[in-house]
Amino acid sequence: RDEYLRKPDWLKIKLNTNDNYTGLKKMMREQNLHTVCEEAKCPNIHECWAVRRTATFMILGDVCTRACRFCAVKTGLPSELDWKEPERVADSVQLMNLKHVVITMVARDDLKDGGSAVFAETVRAIRRKSPFTSIEVLPSDMAGEYENLKTLMDSRPDILNHNIETVKRLTPRVRARATYERSLEFLRRAREMQPDIPTKSSIMLGLGETKEEIIEAMDDLRENNVDILTLGQYLQPSKKHIKVQKYYHPDEFAELREIALQKGFSHCEAGPLVRSSYHADEQVNAAAKA
Ligand code: SF4
Ligand code: SF4
Repeated sequence: RDEYLRKPDWLKIKLNTNDNYTGLKKMMREQNLHTVCEEAKCPNIHECWAVRRTATFMILGDVCTRACRFCAVKTGLPSELDWKEPERVADSVQLMNLKHVVITMVARDDLKDGGSAVFAETVRAIRRKSPFTSIEVLPSDMAGEYENLKTLMDSRPDILNHNIETVKRLTPRVRARATYERSLEFLRRAREMQPDIPTKSSIMLGLGETKEEIIEAMDDLRENNVDILTLGQYLQPSKKHIKVQKYYHPDEFAELREIALQKGFSHCEAGPLVRSSYHADEQVNAAAKA
């Protein structure tokens, strides 16, 4: 269908326009660093940066070798590897005095190691400078090369997060190159490599999936030992991106969260504005207690 669904009231949030982050944003530009918080214009930026002291950095450049239909990151030929990036990210984490940091990446299908060496070095550099900051990594599937995953897991992040993004049937329509099965295997292997590091995944809702399919995805994640789940509303970043088929009511999110907890996830964050990295600081503790 061609018409656009009208956004429900609970998504009409007022962005915090009095900008307290000019200094931090300037630092990001000067250091040539990218945060998902800024680039995705995430509505949670005030709560995350100022109150919870958490942020999501995107490393290995800001140009991706893939073009997923829901994602606002630019596609093209990525930049040269930057071996100084790990230290710059670590300096910023220290300066922002973060309690929890999420490090994600563009997919680097152009590199043999998938970017894993720079990624692992970033984790180590943060650990050296900010030993009390919990570190969550959110890598691509690294083209299913498990040696690359091992390089990353050996750096001992606190949480390994890898998003399946959507249900099985919709994966080919929504994600580029990644497959549902490969992402599940990636999560399972990460856990096998470092059994004490919890794993986490996320599903965007509103792409046309059924409730049964969401529940099936939960079962598949649990079968592959995934501990933490986030469920959020998909929002179309621009008219070129895949359309929203449904806006879920907060009550529906609450119901899905209950189902997830019954299935044995140690933590489930679910709601219209929930993003993969939202309230991630709480999940470290939940996982530690599980
Ligand atoms: Fe950044 Fe994630 Fe918080 Fe959004 S939810 S501001 S992307 S850390
Ligand atoms: Fe976006 Fe990740 Fe897909 Fe690249 S691989 S287009 S960064 S979702």
